[in-house]
Amino acid sequence: MDLIRRVAKDLVEANYAIAFTGAGISTESGIPDFRGPSGIWTRDPEAEKRAYEIYGKFLRDPSEYWKEALRSPLYSLLEKAEPNPAHKALADLESMGILMCVITQNIDGLHQKAGSRNVVEFHGSVSKLRCIRCGSRFDKRKFIKVLESHNVPECENCGSALKLDVVHFTEPIPTDVYVKSFEEAMKCDLMLVCGTSAVVYPAAELPRVAKRNGAKIVEINLEETSLTFEGVSDYIIKGKVGENLPKIVEEVKKLRIQS
Ligand SMILES: [Zn+2]
Repeated sequence: MDLIRRVAKDLVEANYAIAFTGAGISTESGIPDFRGPSGIWTRDPEAEKRAYEIYGKFLRDPSEYWKEALRSPLYSLLEKAEPNPAHKALADLESMGILMCVITQNIDGLHQKAGSRNVVEFHGSVSKLRCIRCGSRFDKRKFIKVLESHNVPECENCGSALKLDVVHFTEPIPTDVYVKSFEEAMKCDLMLVCGTSAVVYPAAELPRVAKRNGAKIVEINLEETSLTFEGVSDYIIKGKVGENLPKIVEEVKKLRIQS
C-alpha cells in the first residue's frame, strides 16, 4: 500500500488525531525560514543577535522593545502571508472531524486564516499582544493607533506593558499554551508531523511524548529528520506538505465513501 493511502487509513481509524506543524508548512506560503541557505539570519547575522536580545529589552524598557519590533520587516511580512494548500488540507481534515487539533510552532496565524479552529500556537502569534503578568491576550489590531503613535500598549486587565504574543528567545513558553500542547500530545493516538524537523525544544518534546504514550507518529517532511533517525516516527512521507496533504484529504474522502 502506498504511504498516502496508509496515512489516510490511519487517520480514519484514529480516535484522536492531531497535527504538529513547523516552518516547512509556511515556507510554501513564501515565508522565509531563519537558518536555511537563504534564511533571514543566514543573510543577516546581526538580526539574529537582536532576536536573542529582544526579550531582555522588553523587560528593561518596553518602549525600546516596541521601536525595534515595529521596525522589523518580518512581522509585516508574516501578517500579509496567505495560507497554502497544506494549511487548507489540515483545516479540511478538522472540519471532517478527522483532526482534533493543530499545534504549530509558527507565529504567522496561517492555520486560522485557512479555517482551522482548534489551533495551539506554541510560539505565540504575530497578530496578538500578550501580557506577561496576567497572561491576557489581545488582538493586535485593537492597539494599532497606540502603536502608530509610538506609545506602549497596556493590558486592559492589569495595566502592565504588553508585548507581542510571539515567544522570543530566552522567553518562557506561556503556561496555558505549554499545558494545552502537552495535554494534546498525550491524548492523541496519531500525530501528523508536518514540515518540522522537531529540533527546537521544548516543542520538539511533543512528538516524543506522544510516541512514549503509544501514539503513531507520521512525518510529512522534505527529508528525513531526527524523528526518522531516532525511530520516533513510524514512517515518513517525503516531499512537500502542500502536495501531500491535499492528496491525503482526497484519499480520506474515498475511504469514507467506501465505508
Ligand atoms: Zn495583564
